[in-house]
Amino acid sequence: MKEDLLEKYYAAGVIAAKILNNGAQEIRVGVSYLELVESIEARVKEEGADLAFPLNVSLNEDAAHDTASTRDDRVFSKGDVVKLDLGVQIDGYIADTATTVDLGNNGNLIEASRQALDTAIKKVRPGVTAGELGAAIQFEIESRGYRPVSNLTGHGLDQFVIHKPPTIPNIAINGGVVLEEGMVFAIEPFATTGSGHVNEKSRMEIYSQIAHKPVRIPSARAVIDSIQERRGLPFARRWLKDKKMELALAGLIRSQVLTVYPVLSDIAGSLVSQHEHTMIVTEDGCIVTTRMR
Ligand code: MN
Ligand code: MN
Repeated sequence: MKEDLLEKYYAAGVIAAKILNNGAQEIRVGVSYLELVESIEARVKEEGADLAFPLNVSLNEDAAHDTASTRDDRVFSKGDVVKLDLGVQIDGYIADTATTVDLGNNGNLIEASRQALDTAIKKVRPGVTAGELGAAIQFEIESRGYRPVSNLTGHGLDQFVIHKPPTIPNIAINGGVVLEEGMVFAIEPFATTGSGHVNEKSRMEIYSQIAHKPVRIPSARAVIDSIQERRGLPFARRWLKDKKMELALAGLIRSQVLTVYPVLSDIAGSLVSQHEHTMIVTEDGCIVTTRMR
């Protein structure tokens, strides 16, 4: 990989690691969800970087894709299991990293996804298959009495691209992609007390542009203009400037200019933990870009 590309992946990783770590320490009972989200997102810009996607803050049975709405009045509560998932990009080169904060007594659940991630990272090297990583993740989580979420996976990364091969499963599969030097991907195990399968909820806060088509309705045009700088990366409904733009979203989805990422949840009352790092495969292992250094 070219030296200047590596530098951008590293720089994004350092910023993401620092901001995620500090942000996680600020989650306490009574803290405003909206204020936390906006404060962490602002710090990415203050560091001279951009967001790869809106900060995901997903509670309890929600595994992914929740973020604050414009007038979100939620506060963190005793017992909450809070997933913080941050994506930082520099010139489109992405650092994707996540951690879980326990406001209850769920230390073992949180440890399960943390250990699964650590074990999988130690196995990464050229020639290893994605299926072997999935098996290691599944073993670490099941041996602690939880289930891995089977329909969420790690994923390859590229400039302005969040999801591409290789897919890194959270369960054992036969084969899968053979890892090669220079591959960039995120591994993200989810451990759950629920079914091990997530479904879409009706709550929708995160969108991205998937096609360029003529758009004539002024409010829809305003949405498209305001998100051009995302270059296809996801954005939050909260980032749109007025209510008319929010109403235009449904039409843009119907005409397949935008796609939406509904909140993904395991069964009601279950608890889900997640840990995630981004890495680059080297000759004999990998460099984790999103670890605190
Ligand atoms: Mn992530
Ligand atoms: Mn990810």
